[in-house]
Amino acid sequence: MDKQNDQSRMDKIVSLAKRRGFIFQSSEIYGGLNGFWDYGPLGVALKRNVKDAWWRDMVSGHDELATLAGAPSPYEMTGLDCTIIMHPQVWKCSGHFDLFHDWMIDCRESKRRYRYDHLHGRWAAHRGKKVFVTTDQSGDEAVPDTVAKAQKFFGLRAKQVDEIEWGGGLESLQAVVAAGVASLADALGPDAAAPGSLTEPREFNLMFETRIGALAGDDDDRAFLRPETAQGIFVNFKNVLDTSRVSVPFGIAQVGKSFRNEITPRNFTFRSREFEQMEIEFFCKPADSAEWYRYWRDRRWKWYLDLGLTAGKLQLREHASDELSHYSVGTADIEYAFPFLAPGEFGELEGIAHRGDFDLRSHMEGKLVRKNGELVVETGPDGKPRHRGSGKDLSYFDDVSRERYVPHVIEPSAGADRGTLAFLCDAYHEDEVPDADGKPRSRTVMKFHPRLAPVKAAILPLVKKDGMPEVAIDLYRALKPHMACQYDEKGAVGRRYARQDEAGTPWCLTIDGQTLADKTVTLRDRDSLVQSRVPVAEVVDLLRDKLA
Ligand code: ATP
Repeated sequence: MDKQNDQSRMDKIVSLAKRRGFIFQSSEIYGGLNGFWDYGPLGVALKRNVKDAWWRDMVSGHDELATLAGAPSPYEMTGLDCTIIMHPQVWKCSGHFDLFHDWMIDCRESKRRYRYDHLHGRWAAHRGKKVFVTTDQSGDEAVPDTVAKAQKFFGLRAKQVDEIEWGGGLESLQAVVAAGVASLADALGPDAAAPGSLTEPREFNLMFETRIGALAGDDDDRAFLRPETAQGIFVNFKNVLDTSRVSVPFGIAQVGKSFRNEITPRNFTFRSREFEQMEIEFFCKPADSAEWYRYWRDRRWKWYLDLGLTAGKLQLREHASDELSHYSVGTADIEYAFPFLAPGEFGELEGIAHRGDFDLRSHMEGKLVRKNGELVVETGPDGKPRHRGSGKDLSYFDDVSRERYVPHVIEPSAGADRGTLAFLCDAYHEDEVPDADGKPRSRTVMKFHPRLAPVKAAILPLVKKDGMPEVAIDLYRALKPHMACQYDEKGAVGRRYARQDEAGTPWCLTIDGQTLADKTVTLRDRDSLVQSRVPVAEVVDLLRDKLA
């Protein structure tokens, strides 16, 4: 599928998401707020199902007596729900206060702001005039964008475009400026008419700041909205150990909101400023940590496949050593080929990181830095820790090996919104179905895995008379305690099927004349379109089995 078609596919998904109440722009009646999204009636159910599937598969349904495939041993799983605002020292010791930033660049002319690492460009020359044309587009759109901008800048007609001399392909603006090949004064900003309007890049911390208390004013009142849920788990490590009977190896899971003041939120919900994460911090013996890392990487990869994401659109990417964070021993990303990306490009759904003992040590000793290959407490000019830790002992005494150690951590960190977006994009299909007269009719169908589908079954009386609604309502009431289902008696049955297909409902149950005679209903399968007769009395068990 070429980029053009894929972009139009994305446009259709965004429009269906709005039309059918999956996702709306936040505060839309006031013009919306960039980077913030609301989930509508179908969307909230979809996202909740994603989070519930994760919690059930990773935590509540976990068998702690079994050795799962690929795991070095049995292990325990437990959960937490921590606050969004935490003690500011948490972020100082974790490194977010000093390091969680992107470089941004402003355009004095257009007043637009860009992420420095998102800008690319190339030299263009025409009749002695030369300029470094930049774009903030990515993938296949970037080169045509630079051509259009150069044409405008040189004041050329379309047929004169070939007269432009190009000095090579697209390169990162950041890289060419660092190498001295171009300067910001030469650069034509992505939305500017003349070069030289881009400001020097500035660091921008992505944490949202707030103030605590009515008399807030001085620096001590500064607090931050968490940019990840993980730190709440680390600072409660001892509480969990002391109050539950878990022993290493074990994991603590948390689902909750995180906030990042992204410079350029984009691609629908993919890069939002407020989003939800589903994170596990898995604590293990240092000697076993490489094996646990591989276990979690493979387990999490399989989870997406089991919930129906197309294997060919998923990619597991191990980070190269120069890409690893300063504390990480190994990291892999699970990525998905979102339709808004150029062919061959993938976007991160989840990162699985081996974090060693970095986090627990940071919260004990203070912010750590790597020096000569060792993690040591970073000191200020006075020789004291730059950011002092809690001083609490977060080591663990292992009853089996009779040793004391600081556990190593494996962190599978997933985005609930990005996961939901991937399931939404993957589910989108267009095909043809025969209408009531047997003529082919095109349909849009969301092929969600039944566990994720917002509505599992629709109960449809063929007509609003002859006792059909009564049987249908009884069936609705019998099913409702077991799964999300809808009763719909409005309109032609073909239209009602179409509505359910767009909502991604896997099964429709139609009550017709035959039902009254032999107490069977038609069960229509969303994907195969096969219609079969099922005794009314067996519907609940049958659908429960299908969902199990
Ligand atoms: P990216 O490089 O795409 O910004 P990241 O590597 O900073 O992501 P992590 O810090 O590893 O992301 O966060 C873990 C997960 O949280 C990501 O895999 C993603 O699913 C989700 N996530 C992170 N930032 C955002 C965001 N701005 N909007 C939506 N989800 C996000």
